[in-house]
Amino acid sequence: PVPGQVVTRFAPSPTGFLHIGGARTALFNWLFAKASGGKFLLRIEDTDRARSTQPAIDAILDSMTWLDLNWDGEAIFQFERAPRHAEVAHQLLASGHAYKCYATAEELTALRESQKAAKLPMRYDGRWRDRDESEAPEGAPYVVRIKAPKDGATTIVDQVQGSITVQNAELDDFVLLRSDGTPTYMLAVVVDDHDMGVTHVIRGDDHLNNAFRQLAVIRGMGWPEPIYAHVPMIHGSDGGKLSKRHGAVGVDSYRDELGILPEALNNYLLRLGWGHGDDEIISREQAIEWFTLDGVGKSPSRFDLKKLENL
Ligand code: GLU
Repeated sequence: PVPGQVVTRFAPSPTGFLHIGGARTALFNWLFAKASGGKFLLRIEDTDRARSTQPAIDAILDSMTWLDLNWDGEAIFQFERAPRHAEVAHQLLASGHAYKCYATAEELTALRESQKAAKLPMRYDGRWRDRDESEAPEGAPYVVRIKAPKDGATTIVDQVQGSITVQNAELDDFVLLRSDGTPTYMLAVVVDDHDMGVTHVIRGDDHLNNAFRQLAVIRGMGWPEPIYAHVPMIHGSDGGKLSKRHGAVGVDSYRDELGILPEALNNYLLRLGWGHGDDEIISREQAIEWFTLDGVGKSPSRFDLKKLENL
């Protein structure tokens, strides 16, 4: 990437079709990149091998093409990058920002049970954080955990949510590499965003908590921190979680079953959580000219199939 250039990305997990929440995230990333003369990248997060499928990948790419949300360069497939993720975990081990944890499944279950009984938050207690590896049984399996900061607080100045502070004592030493050496999602996202030169992470606010954890990895590596923008979820017309009964089906069924035009769906998605005065119809060119992250609302938007059908 060119220094100073904005780079955004859309990072869907291919476990199903592209739903409207994902399509809106992709659109906001696309618009922000175009508005800043930057690049919009696509990364397929297929690290979860059990749930990722080829039909889902095809459906996502197809829906994005139909919505004319074209990405720059080739799509990146996260699973192919597993060796690179492991390499970074080992760098964190070497620099003392991560450690090997030999706790057994039985021990961790017992820990959870006792925390549950004491009504404490269930989280790993850092029992191997300061222990020496030589105390582990010869050849015993281990996971690699991040050494999350324990004192003080972490603040994120989010472009949509504003300034948010979390006490570091609330952050756990989460797993980076599993005992079979495979990377976790939390590690893979950070490494990929860094290597792809992502400057702005625009995604659903269900990932806001993850951002604080991901920062621990970024800081451990001494990498530049991206600018975050966590966009509120789309709710159903009754204010509840969006689901099929609200007509919240995939983008492909809007096209195939309801006969909605891509321009109409883009226009509708743009105005879910972002607006430009009372303008009802906003062209692509206008959207590129007007779109800003601080114009994205802080509260969840409501999906209204009737409105979409009437466009
Ligand atoms: N793959 C994640 C999801 O589909 C998104 C991760 C991210 O944007 O950082 O929810």
